[in-house]
Amino acid sequence: MYSETQLLLLSGLQHLQFCRRQWALIHLEQVWSENQFTAEGRNLHDKVHDSEIESRGDVRIVRGLRLQCLRLGLVGQADVVEFISADTGVELDGVTGFWRPFPVEYKRGKTKIDDCDRVQLCAQAMCLEEMLKIPCGGIAAGALFYGRPRRREQVVLDTSLRDKTEALAQEMHQLHAAGQTPKAKYQKKCGSCSLYETCLPKTTGIKKDVAGYLAKALEF
Ligand code: SF4
Repeated sequence: MYSETQLLLLSGLQHLQFCRRQWALIHLEQVWSENQFTAEGRNLHDKVHDSEIESRGDVRIVRGLRLQCLRLGLVGQADVVEFISADTGVELDGVTGFWRPFPVEYKRGKTKIDDCDRVQLCAQAMCLEEMLKIPCGGIAAGALFYGRPRRREQVVLDTSLRDKTEALAQEMHQLHAAGQTPKAKYQKKCGSCSLYETCLPKTTGIKKDVAGYLAKALEF
């Protein structure tokens, strides 16, 4: 269990899954560059969080809910949590009956090949389980809503996704404790990275290698 002062941003899991160096640049070195992709993503999130809490039939929709999980050491915010009326579930303040939480995360663009969005959604569900005292695994699914094309994709929060999410959270805490930014290594995905101009992956690693070589050479 982590204390509240040790919690790291849940959103960092998607950065870590995308690239360890990107996570370190954002979360250790506090560097942030906005490109078209991140700007569009931010606008989509702003629209979601600007909206009011509402009820639609058997569903209560809560936006911008603060999340935390002491077991994984994470803190963050949910875009949307739908509470669906059910025979069993959690009780909510000010309303009768039982409700089953269903997290929904909004993303720009289309579904991704890697699991970075699914991991973030899974971490949100694990936060909700701890906060609402739901047994681990009690939230079976959530959804990702993509902006282009506008499409909602159901995500099953199975054991393998949960294990991956836990492992990433642990690694994030280890990297945070170590406090060191991994070296740049050019990969195909660097082209869509918001930190490309800061990272300079095609040259930064080389520069460091040359600097290391010179330092060694000067020892003799
Ligand atoms: S440019 Fe590439 S190496 Fe650098 S942070 Fe982005 S993905 Fe990682």
